[in-house]
Amino acid sequence: MDFQAILDEIDDELRPRLDAVEGKVASYIPALARVSPRQFGIALRTCAGETAAAGDAAVPFSIQSMSKVFSLTLAIRALGEAMWDRIGREPSGSPFNSLVQLESERGIPRNPFINAGAIAVADRLVSQGDALAELLALLGRLCGEPIHVDAEVAQSEADTGFRNTALANFMKGFGTLDNDVAEVLDVYFHQCAIAMSCEQVASAAGYLCRDGRHPLAGTPVLSAAQTRRVNALMLTCGTYDAAGEFAFRIGLPCKSGVGGGIMAIVPDRLSLCVWSPALDATGNSWLGRQGLELFVTKTGLSVF
Ligand code: GLN
Repeated sequence: MDFQAILDEIDDELRPRLDAVEGKVASYIPALARVSPRQFGIALRTCAGETAAAGDAAVPFSIQSMSKVFSLTLAIRALGEAMWDRIGREPSGSPFNSLVQLESERGIPRNPFINAGAIAVADRLVSQGDALAELLALLGRLCGEPIHVDAEVAQSEADTGFRNTALANFMKGFGTLDNDVAEVLDVYFHQCAIAMSCEQVASAAGYLCRDGRHPLAGTPVLSAAQTRRVNALMLTCGTYDAAGEFAFRIGLPCKSGVGGGIMAIVPDRLSLCVWSPALDATGNSWLGRQGLELFVTKTGLSVF
């Protein structure tokens, strides 16, 4: 398959839609509100190491909730099954920053990809050592180049992270978090503020598309069984309360972020990242979703 030609076609088809972008860039984090919505990028990396990219694929953006896949990976590596003692594995069916389920489910987050779940994962990592440094080191190894936090976005997250602070305090009250709330949130805000391009995300996600092996070094990042589970969670929970619609229309394990990125896995074939900053009502990239739909339509690649 000529992936470069396919990505070029997708870019050609979608770029005119940037003039009529629907949806809005995330405005509740002021540093994200300043990003121009008129950008679209798409990149992939096959299991054989072939790469293809189009549009704004080399522009770094805030990976936001896509970081939750990588922090989960570190926590599974460190804790194995014990990772799941205080975090569920069911889709939430609610917005990513919802508080309501936490009350009725006694402080146990539904899954590691809603904010509450990712904050609980960050707590596990804080117990293990320097969580942010570990995460950046993992991403750096996966991409083959250094990866950094955008300090302005991290500060903006902290300044306006009222709901996340509420979620963390609520879980602390239920005994879900072991560590100091401020320390855990500091990790969470910084992981969300990591900046990467579509090309870097597509490369970093390579271990998820086969048997958990590092895309460049071939060493294990996760076991094959753990990799299948992360993919299952991405499919069922990776795009919040739009996960059903994503499975229906795209049929790939995906993880989105409010920076407008969506990473997707075609098991045994390739890892893919699309980015366009304007979001739909569910907090997923409006044009990114269309890009993924076009990719699946043009290639026939889907898990179903
Ligand atoms: N930093 C964002 C938040 O905590 C991440 C949410 C997202 O990308 N869905 O609200």
